[in-house]
This record gives sequence, C-alpha cells and structure tokens, in this order.
Amino acid sequence: MSGERHEFQAETRQLLRLMIHSLYSNKEIFLRELISNASDAVDKLRFSAIQQPQLLGDDNDLAVDLIIDKAAGTITVRDNGIGMSRAEVIDNLGTIARSGTKQFLESLSGEARKDSALIGQFGVGFYSAFIVADKVTVLTRRADETTAVRWESDGEGSYTLEDAEKASRGTDVVLHLRADDQEFIEPMRLQHIVRKYSDHIGLPVRLREGEGEVETVNRAAALWTRPKSEISDDDYKAFYTHLSHDPQPPLAWTHQKVEGNLSYTSLLYIPASAPFDLWNREQRRGLQLYVKRVFIMDDATELLPPWLRFVRGLVDSDDLPLNVSRELLQNNRTVEKIRSALVKRSLDLLDDLAQNKTEDYARFWQAFGPVVKEGIVEDGAQRERIAKLCRFRTTRESDAAKVSLADYLARMPAEQKAIYYITADTLAAAQASPHLEGYRSRGFEVLLLTDRVDEWLVMHLQEFEGKKLESCAGGAADLAPTIETPEQLRQDGEYAPVLERLQKALAGKIEKAQVSRRLVESPACLVESEHGVSRRLERMFREAGQVAPTTQPVLEINPTHPLLARIKDTADDAEFGDLAALLYDQAVLAEGGQLDDPAAFVKRLNSLILAGSTPKSSIIVPG
Ligand code: ADP
Ligand code: MG
Repeated sequence: MSGERHEFQAETRQLLRLMIHSLYSNKEIFLRELISNASDAVDKLRFSAIQQPQLLGDDNDLAVDLIIDKAAGTITVRDNGIGMSRAEVIDNLGTIARSGTKQFLESLSGEARKDSALIGQFGVGFYSAFIVADKVTVLTRRADETTAVRWESDGEGSYTLEDAEKASRGTDVVLHLRADDQEFIEPMRLQHIVRKYSDHIGLPVRLREGEGEVETVNRAAALWTRPKSEISDDDYKAFYTHLSHDPQPPLAWTHQKVEGNLSYTSLLYIPASAPFDLWNREQRRGLQLYVKRVFIMDDATELLPPWLRFVRGLVDSDDLPLNVSRELLQNNRTVEKIRSALVKRSLDLLDDLAQNKTEDYARFWQAFGPVVKEGIVEDGAQRERIAKLCRFRTTRESDAAKVSLADYLARMPAEQKAIYYITADTLAAAQASPHLEGYRSRGFEVLLLTDRVDEWLVMHLQEFEGKKLESCAGGAADLAPTIETPEQLRQDGEYAPVLERLQKALAGKIEKAQVSRRLVESPACLVESEHGVSRRLERMFREAGQVAPTTQPVLEINPTHPLLARIKDTADDAEFGDLAALLYDQAVLAEGGQLDDPAAFVKRLNSLILAGSTPKSSIIVPG
C-alpha cells in the first residue's frame, strides 16, 4: 500500500476483528449497509442543494451503481452523493465516535449474540464491508471540493490515505472479495440481495457487469409514497429494518396519507423490543422528517412527546418549508397539529394491538410499559386513554403485568370501595409487604407497582372510572370493617397504654401508634400518615441525594401477634424501649427501607434471642 499510514483506533480494531472472524451467519447484510450509506449520502446532497443548488449541478441523476468486475474479483458500490473530505474520511472511517459502540462490542462478545443483525443498529455499518472483502478501497470527493481522497485498508490494524483524482463528486467503495466469498460476484445473487433489503429506498440501485448493460434492480420509489394497497406486510417489515436497524420485526404499524388543511404522510411502527438506551430520556428519539419527499433530519423529537419515544417511523410533510430547522420545529403550529394527530394515531394503534393481539401487546408492554406510564404523568389530555392501556401485576396475577384496570374493576367484590395498590422496589418486596395482609384476607385484589415511574403514576392517576386509587400503605386506606367486633374493641382498650408507651419510646420516629386492622401475620407495619408523601418516594428522593419532604409515619401493631403480648407484659422501661425499637426497625426492613443504625438493630436482636434461650424467658413452656 502507498500513501500516508494511519492506525485504527483500538475499538475499531476490536470491532473489525469481530466482523471478520465472528460474523458468518448473515454475510449478505454488507450490501444493505453500503447501499444505506450511499442513500444517506444522496439524501445529504439533496438537502444541501436546497441552499446551494450548484452542488447538484447537471449531475442530478441520483443513484447507486453496483459495478461487477469478475476479472479483478471486485464489486464497487458507487454513489453520486455528498462525498467526504479528507478530515471526514479520517473521522468516519478510522474511528468509531459513537457511544453505542462499547455496548455493541459487549453484546457481541457473549456466545449467543454473535449476530450480524446487530451491526447496523450501532452505526458501524461501513466496517461490515470486511465481512466479505480482504481489502477495501474508498475513493471519495466531496461535492464542494476539487480534490479527492483514496482510503485503503485490509481491515487489520491500519489504513492508508492519499490524495487522488476523481472526475465527479461522490464515493466509490471497492470491495476486493475474499476467495471464500466469490459467490457475491454473481449478478443474480446481488440482485436478490438488493430486492430483499433495498427495494423500498427512494433511490434507484443499478447493476452492471463491466461495461455491460445497466439494469435498475429495485423499485426505487420511497415506500410511503406508494398506495397502501400495493404494499405487502413484508415490504413494511423490510422498510422498518432499513429505517430502524432493529433486528426484530415490528409488532404493528400504521401508514396514513392526510390531505386537507394539513397535508402529510405518516408511517409509524411499534417495535418489539427496547433499544439499549431507551432509559436515557436525553437520547434523541422521534421520527424521520421529510419535506416533499426530501429527507430533512433524523430524530425529529418534536413530532412525538417523550412518552412515545419508542415509536419509530417518519413524517413527510407538504406544508413545512424545505429549510426547516430544529429551532423552527419547536414552536411551529403545523408541527403541533401533526404531533397531536400522531399521538392519537399511536394510541389507536396500541388500542388495536391490545384488543386484537393480546400476546403481542404483552410483549410490547413488557418492553415499553414504564415509558407509556410516563404519559399518565405528562399528558393530562390523554390520561384516561393511557390508563386503559396500562397493565399491572396484581396479588391475583403476579407472573406478568397483564391485568388492566377494567379487568380489575370488573371482578372486584361489591363491598370494595377503591382500587388498591402497593408500591415497592421489587415484586418480592411488594408481595411480602405486611400492608397487604388485611386486603388478602378480605379477598381484595391489589396492584403490585414496582416501576420507579409508578410513584408518579399514582400521584397523577387518582381515579379510574369513578373509583379512587388508594395505597395499601396509606393512613386513609379503607379497610375498616363497618362495625368493630367486640374482640377488637376489647383489644383497643387493652392496648391503649401500650400505644402510649410506644409513642413515647419512638418519639421523633413515628407520628403515633395505633392498633391495626390490616395486619394478620406480621407484628407491625408503618403506614403513611394521612397527608404524608409515599414512603418509597421519600426514599427515592433521599437516594438521589435530594432533600426528602420527611413526614413521620404511623406505627400499626398487630395485637394477635405473640411479640405484642410480650411487649405488653414488659414493665422495665429500658427493655420496653429495646423491643419498641426492634418492632420499628422490623417494620422499616419489611417495606424495603434502610435502618438508620443497623448495628444497634443487630445488637438488640441478639440480646433478645439470648434472653429467649435462658430460663428467664417469659415464654413458659408447659410440661
Ligand atoms: P452510519 O451510517 O450509521 O453513520 P457507518 O459505519 O455505516 O455508520 O458509516 C459511518 C460514516 O461514514 C457515515 O455516517 C458517513 O458519514 C460516512 N460514510 C459512509 N459511507 C459514505 C458514503 N458512501 N458517502 C458519504 N459518507 C459516507
Ligand atoms: Mg451506515
């Protein structure tokens, strides 16, 4: 090789090694990736030419050419798009700038995941050329420059760069096929691959062998511009792969041409699984934006609210100006109207999936449920509709989030007044919560809420179809039987002095102590005082290093538990204090909280165990 030698960045080298040695399963995707880059380059040229028509010049027959040279054993992928400057070549073909690359490498290093379908998703498509080529030459000239650059590499550790001549703008990617991969030089094979992956892009892909006849092999009409009746499910799916780089087929889609006051075409897809960075709300999502068939931008976040950031697809508007910028999108009436129509459209699509394809909907909910729930918090206008789409785990069905609020209401007993829920960090913690005991024993179903967003959800969704949502851990939780039994009244009287002593012993930690109507098995639990904030939310604030609006909880005790009998009979104030502290700490642990002084807890627990094993024990064993 001649020219100036450059080393690949370490990550690029690692990636190339994986490409060459691990990705055998689906080699043909190299062509999809290179055509997709060519198509992007043409889109960029069209876009730049809006402001600078001279860039396009007379060479406006935009296309991708696949040129086969059997004698040389090469395939050239040629475009007359924007091209690259020398600096861009170094940036784009020598390094991997993307933050996703690390995750990509990690996902590939696992045995099961050596799947080439992942490549495109992480924006490393160009390097897939090395799956089939042992040498790649790129000759490129930027549309606004006169000199060209030649880049060449064998995909091992380095590449060379040199100035070169090129008569017209654009990029040639020349693949010197490996001896084992000569099958790809057959026109039939290439034709087949192009039809499979690139039929739907809005750019002709032409094939020719040597100086032979040129043949356009794809349909070359942007999919969304074609009549719906002519588009098959497979076409929609292939287009989704092209658009999203998601290896899995979409669960559902909706394609709509709107004419009238507003003219636009939208094509929206619901993916089947979450991308690795779904949880990053800063991550740019949104749709592709086209104006009158010209590609304007990826990730037009203004077209959908954040809680619909999983929706993929595009909008092609006839009303927006071609020079529309992100700033302009932000306060634009047309964009606002399109956006609110797309929200309804997305909700319709999800309704349809929920009603007609329950299993697909369960998959969807598993992947994106917590994001949809953000909509309840953020989108007051759609709250009702979103609430209907929510699915929950409950005390009756806890294996997956499948229960809708409508299901819940339909089967609740007549005497039940509200929709009950409990929030916790994990399913196990929710299920084991002492707060549930009374609800279980009365046959009341309880929603088990374990997503972080749930704390906000219950703050914003206060009722559903006239029924209030109430926390099982709340002070106002309505479990009181209509009439107290004489036994309960007797216990209340019997425990009145204990409550008073507990209140004194735990001053500063609890607001008050009371006899519980909800506990069946556990000795005690903490409940939110009537106007307090959720205790879990308080904890989440504290963990995030924020000042928590602290309110003191109410300690509820279960008089039927032997531990309480023991406490009642403890005359010594110091011993009573220890038992009270233990009772409180247990209740904190039971709701998944952290103790202020774990060492003191351990000490008290141990001394209680030891006390229990001596003859002084208050538990008298008959015999
Ligand atoms: P991605 O397409 O996801 O950005 P690739 O690895 O496929 O990632 O390409 C890396 C970059 O190289 C592209 O973003 C683009 O800037 C540049 N590039 C690749 N092929 C071409 C081409 N044919 N014309 C112009 N630029 C290209
Ligand atoms: Mg690419």
